Amino acid sequence: MSRGGVSRDAVLKGMRAALKLQRDLGLDRGEARGHRVDVFGAIYRENVPLRFCPLEPLMGAYMRPDGNPGIILTTRRPLGQQRFTAAHELGHHIMNHDPHADDDSILRRAPDQMRDYMCLPPAEQEADAFASYFLVPDWLITEIMRRQGWTAQQLQDPGTVYQMALRMGASYRATLFALVRNRVIATGVRTQLAKAQPATLKRALVPDDSLSSTRDVDVWHLTERDEGTVIEAGRDDLFVVRLREDSGAGYLWSFDELEAAGFAILKDGREKITEGTVGAPTMRHVLARAGDVAPSHGTYTVWERRPWAPEDDPKRWSFDYCPVFTHASGLFRPRGEPVGNAQ
Ligand SMILES: [Zn+2]
Repeated sequence: MSRGGVSRDAVLKGMRAALKLQRDLGLDRGEARGHRVDVFGAIYRENVPLRFCPLEPLMGAYMRPDGNPGIILTTRRPLGQQRFTAAHELGHHIMNHDPHADDDSILRRAPDQMRDYMCLPPAEQEADAFASYFLVPDWLITEIMRRQGWTAQQLQDPGTVYQMALRMGASYRATLFALVRNRVIATGVRTQLAKAQPATLKRALVPDDSLSSTRDVDVWHLTERDEGTVIEAGRDDLFVVRLREDSGAGYLWSFDELEAAGFAILKDGREKITEGTVGAPTMRHVLARAGDVAPSHGTYTVWERRPWAPEDDPKRWSFDYCPVFTHASGLFRPRGEPVGNAQ
């Protein structure tokens, strides 16, 4: 019955429940497909109240006081860990498990390690499998690779895996397991990639900046491939935006709208694209973050225009910004409102 670590029956049960819920909620089609799975929104749509509070050492719990289901999540962990815990607790609910509280061993368990799973009750194995398939389903990996134009070869680079993890809203480690499961990378490659330090990957994207701490900061590398990407960002996340600019023909990207919306532009420059003769396009390179008064949830668009003929064939690039404040306590409300009641 056991194959490697986790029981095959538990994996199949968790996987089927996750794929069914994605279908029922329409997460695998239309606009939702290709973006990170909205796990907090899914809990809300299943009519399960979701509350954030400063738990320690617990990560989260599935409760059913007086028969009414509820999920609590700690505020004391970064978004990726909250999302995995949320998916695990949602799995308990969907599969009619008994109420259960989880500590951070749910983050350390490795699906291919027998010793991690030998003594684990079936409900925990099922909830883990549910969480993994719900957050990083195979179709999402395929879709993100297609949108980004990433090959299996490129996903042997830890920096690319980190950017994929951000877009899926999963941890770097969970993304590696999903890539192996999906046969994008081999187990041996995963072992190598697992040695990369997220802090190093983040600092490599902003080499001139001394990030004092990388703990609650993610660094998003955004390009034209990210048209429409849902950026579920923490308060201090950094955005490295690189857009091809047809400056030879007089077109310039303007980031004024972003500044007006509350983003702070920390750096703005241009790099030559090496094919360059006179008139060749350049790469516009902007470093941004949320300003003191953070921008609200919404779709933001920047335009590439010729300043003297702004209506003449402008090009646009937009993204969906969804701020998430990991450290606020309170009841979750959907539609990009701040989590909790701190605002
Ligand atoms: Zn559990």
